[in-house]
Amino acid sequence: MEFKKNQLIEVNIDDIGNEGEGIGHVDGYALFIKDAVVGDKVLARIIKTKKNYGFARVEEIIEPSSHRVEPKCSVARQCGGCTLQHLSYEKQLEYKFNKVKNCLQRIGGIQGIEDKMEPIYGMDEPFYYRNKAQFPVGYDKDGKLVTGFYAGRSHNIIDCKNCAIQHKVNEEILTKVLGYMEKHHVTAYDEKKHQGLVRHIVTRVGFVTGEIMVCLVVNGHKKDIPKLDELVTSLREIQGMTSIVINSNLEKTNRILGNEIQEVYGNPYIYDYIGNVKYQIGPLSFFQVNPVQTKVLYEKALEYAQLTGEETVWDLYCGIGTISLFLAQKAKKVYGVEIVKEAIDDARINADMNDMKNVEFFVGKAEQVLPREYEKHGVYADVIVVDPPRKGCDGTLLETMVKMEPKRIVYVSCDPATLARDVKILGDEGYGVDKIAVVDQFSHSGHVESVVLMSRVDK
Ligand code: SAH
Repeated sequence: MEFKKNQLIEVNIDDIGNEGEGIGHVDGYALFIKDAVVGDKVLARIIKTKKNYGFARVEEIIEPSSHRVEPKCSVARQCGGCTLQHLSYEKQLEYKFNKVKNCLQRIGGIQGIEDKMEPIYGMDEPFYYRNKAQFPVGYDKDGKLVTGFYAGRSHNIIDCKNCAIQHKVNEEILTKVLGYMEKHHVTAYDEKKHQGLVRHIVTRVGFVTGEIMVCLVVNGHKKDIPKLDELVTSLREIQGMTSIVINSNLEKTNRILGNEIQEVYGNPYIYDYIGNVKYQIGPLSFFQVNPVQTKVLYEKALEYAQLTGEETVWDLYCGIGTISLFLAQKAKKVYGVEIVKEAIDDARINADMNDMKNVEFFVGKAEQVLPREYEKHGVYADVIVVDPPRKGCDGTLLETMVKMEPKRIVYVSCDPATLARDVKILGDEGYGVDKIAVVDQFSHSGHVESVVLMSRVDK
């Protein structure tokens, strides 16, 4: 069958794509259909065709899937954030579990996977879980001041102050900032004209400490903001407000934050805990966005590492040292490696703050630092933990890891496909998979996070 643009076609949705879209098959041809749910029968309009697959949008839902639910958020469909809110949470978890399972089976070649996989760790309350938000400020088509989210694949701002996955305090913060802007005629930034003042409202919340940070990103400086003290007084009425800062971003860019931070009230950072470890978080710090599930994930990594206090551990792609410090509680020595210098600055501050003397950090590429330290200094590891970005681990790094012969490798991954690829490589070099855990870090999005324990098979 030939498919053409604009053609209408009836299709049953039988799978979920990487971005949370529905996938239907007609004569072996796959159609990726946004907003369609597994189990739906839809009338779809084809938007774009390729040789073996195409893209379509829902024209009409002929028979809704039994897994469809009413999204909690009224703008779920327009917003570019959550892609799975219309799918029951139970089904979301099933999808994520199967995604990891299928990748590890097909790409990773793992046998008897059922016995190795733990039941997925979902959230008890999969809403209001994020600790960091970045709201663009601008005008709608009637010239009204708005804040909320960019509509999918665009820079049109959808008016929305009560995002269902952000901490609830954001609504009050946004209302106060917009109220202040209206009262004092403070302008919002216009991307096209590169004019106007307020670009973004960035917030961070410490879920354990209750501390809140508001960072106003402006196309200007602190001195350009009229009646700033009024805004500060108003924001301070919110319980937990410990940090108000201004971030200057004068560039014509899609990057949200600039590099310059000016303190306005309190500290230019907040504190939070994951388990017993305390972390200092500034406006520019990288920090996991779902603190509840991060604790679950790191506890799993720690459990898989099986530390007794005698081990030397390497934590590669360590970011601000979050996993390193978690492991340091139970290890003799932990070495962290991370490419971003600022992240390592934070890691060192956090290690000091927690009085952890058994950690050491390196700035650099994991695939350069580890081979160098191994070849020059003969460094050793009982356990190696990796938590790479989506593209997975570098081949040279995997080679060095194998040469170092750690007893265990704990692989934390945000992309099951590259995880499975790397697991296969390590498998061919003598590391077998013992256990797999999937943790839902990003409820209502298609992202999947997992931890795999591998250990050396005795030859
Ligand atoms: N483990 C950390 C961060 C994981 S995100 C945490 O849980 O918070 C992946 C990290 O890998 C990022 O901080 C990124 O800056 C870093 N990174 C990317 N490529 C790298 C490379 N080649 N070598 C070392 N670090 C790298």
